[in-house]
Amino acid sequence: MSTGAEEIRRRDVNASPPLRVTVVGGGVVGLTCALELARAGLRVAVLTADPVEDTTSAVAAALWFPYRAAPADAVLRWSATSLTAFTELAMDDATGVALMPGTVVHRTAEPDLWWTPAVPNHRPALSTEIPPGASAGTRCTLPVVDMGRYLPWLVQACRDAEVTVTATRVSRLSAVAGDAVVVAAGLGSGPLVDDHTGVPIQGQVVRLADPGLTGWLLDEENPAGLTYVVPRGHDVVCGGTAVDGATGTAPDPDVERAVLERAYALVPELRAAEVRSRAVGLRPGRPTVRLDRTVVDGRPVISCYGHGGAGVTLSWGCAADVVALATGSPAC
Ligand SMILES: Cc1cc2nc3c(=O)[nH]c(=O)nc-3n(C[C@H](O)[C@H](O)[C@H](O)COP(=O)(O)OP(=O)(O)OC[C@H]3O[C@@H](n4cnc5c(N)ncnc54)[C@H](O)[C@@H]3O)c2cc1C
Repeated sequence: MSTGAEEIRRRDVNASPPLRVTVVGGGVVGLTCALELARAGLRVAVLTADPVEDTTSAVAAALWFPYRAAPADAVLRWSATSLTAFTELAMDDATGVALMPGTVVHRTAEPDLWWTPAVPNHRPALSTEIPPGASAGTRCTLPVVDMGRYLPWLVQACRDAEVTVTATRVSRLSAVAGDAVVVAAGLGSGPLVDDHTGVPIQGQVVRLADPGLTGWLLDEENPAGLTYVVPRGHDVVCGGTAVDGATGTAPDPDVERAVLERAYALVPELRAAEVRSRAVGLRPGRPTVRLDRTVVDGRPVISCYGHGGAGVTLSWGCAADVVALATGSPAC
């Protein structure tokens, strides 16, 4: 009996017509997979229940950082690939990606620096680079991805690569056309592949007018709660929260006040900045990211979901592996 990969290879060898792949999910993960599959020469269709601006991806801060995603070894590999991709994208202002220095704040004597192998140029922060109340930090330059600009760029890049994007909610994979299917629907993925291990990780942000900040701050160990400040030029994303299992998407004024107080404590000049907007998103949590290929009803199904708090950070690395699984080429 031939495997799905052998089947795909056989079709590729015959090479007519190009393999048709349907990607279920039009957030950052689905769109990046679709773009890379199309660039690999496949005919790609995206099916998405929501417009891109209404996805969790649109709420992301979005700093390149591998937060709340596992397993560590694969996450490091995917993150490193994405870091290279975003570094190249930062050369084009139209993408909304910028490279920006910042500090990962440490509150303990022996901070867990497990993520640093993916970041070539990190160093201990100078005292002037550490916010009030903290004693140490790691300094590095990382991509900041303005999702309000990046997601439309990604959609256009998909269209330019002849990817079709259709608004529809998929209720079962058997109803989806294509020689292969990629399930990249974030929290919507589990029900499609009978996987009940996903859990929403609710996150709230408030966006302030940018007073001209030149660096980001990430303070995961803040005793008052997860705090990050990510400037994007036109605004500054202040967060955050990470509540496992919470499903509400309405901003909570009390939570917002607490987020702002933590942000003000780190960056006092934010006190005078007006609130521009606010949002709540549900991160697609899972014990580990799922990225594998199975065969369902005789057809390859590639699962790519459960990216937790790092879907942007992992997007290009995971997309490379999805292409490898779809075409039989080596993984990244
Ligand atoms: C407050 C907050 C801050 C964050 N900050 C960062 C950050 O700084 N860096 C970072 O890397 N990550 C960050 N994240 C995490 C990141 O946003 C997610 O990991 C990422 O958006 C997941 O992308 P996704 O494409 O898998 O899911 P989503 O963006 O949720 O997209 C899922 C897509 O699937 C579609 N879909 C679902 N079900 C179906 C169905 N049945 N049929 C058809 N379509 C379906 C939806 O319509 C949508 O298009 C943050 C998240 C939050 C909430």
